[in-house]
Amino acid sequence: MTTVRTRIAPSPTGDPHVGTAYVALFNLCFARQHGGQFILRIEDTDRQRSTSESERMILDSLRWLGLEWDEGPDVGGPHGPYRQSERGDLYAQYAQQLLEAGHAFKCYRSSDELDELREARKAEGLHAALKPADLALPQAEVERREAEGWPYVVRMKVPSEGVCVVEDMLRGSIDVDWTQVDAQILLKSDGMPTYHLANVIDDHLMRITHVLRGEEWINSAPKHQLLYEYFGWQMPVLCHLPLLRNPDKTKLSKRKNPTSINYYRRMGFLPQALTNYLGRMGWSMPDEREKFSLGEMMAHFDIQRVSLGGPVFDLEKLTWLNGVYIREDLDDQGLLLALREWAFNEDYVSQILPQVRPRIETLSDVAPLAGHFFSGMPPIDERSFESITLERGELLKLLQFLIWRLERVSFWDKDSLLPEVKRLSNYFELKMKVFLAPVFIAITGSTTSTSVMDAMVILGSDMTRARLRHAILVLGGISKKQAKGFEKEFRALE
Ligand code: GLU
Repeated sequence: MTTVRTRIAPSPTGDPHVGTAYVALFNLCFARQHGGQFILRIEDTDRQRSTSESERMILDSLRWLGLEWDEGPDVGGPHGPYRQSERGDLYAQYAQQLLEAGHAFKCYRSSDELDELREARKAEGLHAALKPADLALPQAEVERREAEGWPYVVRMKVPSEGVCVVEDMLRGSIDVDWTQVDAQILLKSDGMPTYHLANVIDDHLMRITHVLRGEEWINSAPKHQLLYEYFGWQMPVLCHLPLLRNPDKTKLSKRKNPTSINYYRRMGFLPQALTNYLGRMGWSMPDEREKFSLGEMMAHFDIQRVSLGGPVFDLEKLTWLNGVYIREDLDDQGLLLALREWAFNEDYVSQILPQVRPRIETLSDVAPLAGHFFSGMPPIDERSFESITLERGELLKLLQFLIWRLERVSFWDKDSLLPEVKRLSNYFELKMKVFLAPVFIAITGSTTSTSVMDAMVILGSDMTRARLRHAILVLGGISKKQAKGFEKEFRALE
C-alpha cells in the first residue's frame, strides 16, 4: 500500500495567512490519520514577489501553531530541495519533454498582440480563453522571430471543446468546459516555470498522493489533470477545501479582517486556541465539541466530515475560545509562561527600553508610557482626534493611504518605513510632524508617548495596520463612495 503523503505549498509573497495555516492543518491531520507524511514545499517561482522574509514568517508561524512537517526546506528530506527556486533546470527539462511530444508549443506572440487577440475575441462575444489555434502564427513568421531571437514562452496544448471531468474527494465529479481553459503558459520567457508546471512536477516527484487545497484552485485542476496525462503520471487525489469567509460571507480578506497569523500572535491569541479554531472551519468533532487539541483532531479526523458551506472566520468566536483556553488550561504558571512567550521577554522588552529611557524619571513611569506596546487596540474614540485640524475626509484618506502603502512594505524596518511616510506627507503637502500627528494617536492612543515611527517598527506591520484601521473605524469609517474615490486617487499616485 502506498503511504499517504500530503503537502502545503505556500508562495512566500506576503504575510503568513490564516488560510495557509487552515489548509496546512487539514493536510497534516489527513496525513497523520492515515499514518502518512506531511511535506512543506515553498513555491517561489515568482521571483519578483517572493521574499525570504515572507518564507521565514510562514515557517515560523506554522511551527508556532504546532503544525510540524516531516520534510521541508529547513528540515530536508529525501525528495528535496523543497524550494522551487533551488530545483534548477528541472522544470525546463520537463517542458522540453512536452515540446518534443507535441503537447506544448513555443509561443512568440508579443504582449501587444495578445492584448489585441483578447480584445478581438471579446468584441466577437467569445470567451476570453486563448487557444493554441488563436495563438498560432504562420510558420515563416515563427521562423523569423526565432531567428531574430524574440522572447518566447512555452504553452500547453488544450482541447478547444468538450468537457473535462475532474474528481474531487468532497465534491464528486466537477465538470469544467474546455472552452474556458486557455493554452496555459508553462515556462515564462525568462525560463522560469509557472505555478502549474512546477506544482504538477513537484507533486509527482515528491510522491504526493493527496492534494488538499483551497477551492480557488478548482479551475486549475483541468490543466493539471491534462499535464499528468501528457506525462503519463498518476494524478494525486484532489480535494478542494472551502474558502474561509468574513462574517458577511465574502472571501476572507485583509480589508475586512486581519488575515495574518502575525496579527493573532501579536494580539495575544494562544496558538492552541487558534489551531483549534481553524479546525472548526468546516469541520467538527464527531461529538461536536468546540474545544479540542491538535492531537484529538488528528485522532478523529475524517475528511468526509468537511462541510462545503463557506466556513466563517469569526473574530468574536475565536476570542471567546481563546478565553476558554486561558481560563481552563492555564494555571498561574502556565499563564506566566504564555505571557513570557508573548511579550514579557528580554527580546521584546529590550526593544522598548531605548524608547522609554529618555522619557522617564522613575521606573513607575514606564507602564503608562509603554502600555501600548503590550496592548491590542488603543482606547480611542472620535474625541481623541480633536487636536487634529485636518478636514475629516482628508484625515480618513491620510490613514487609508498610509495603510495601503504599508501593505507593500515587505521588509519592516525604519529604513523602509521612513520613505513611505515622507512620500505621503509630501503628497498631502503636510509637514512630517503634522502628517504624523493623527498617526501618533492611532498607534499609541495618546498625543504624548514614545516615537511613533519606532513604535510602528516595534509593533510590526500587522498591529500597525490594524490600529490604523481601528482609527478609521472610530472616526466613523469610510463610505463605499469615499472608498472608490480613494482607490482611484491612490492608483494615480503610484
Ligand atoms: N502555491 C500555491 C499557493 O500559494 C499552491 C496551491 C496548491 O496547493 O496547489 O497557494
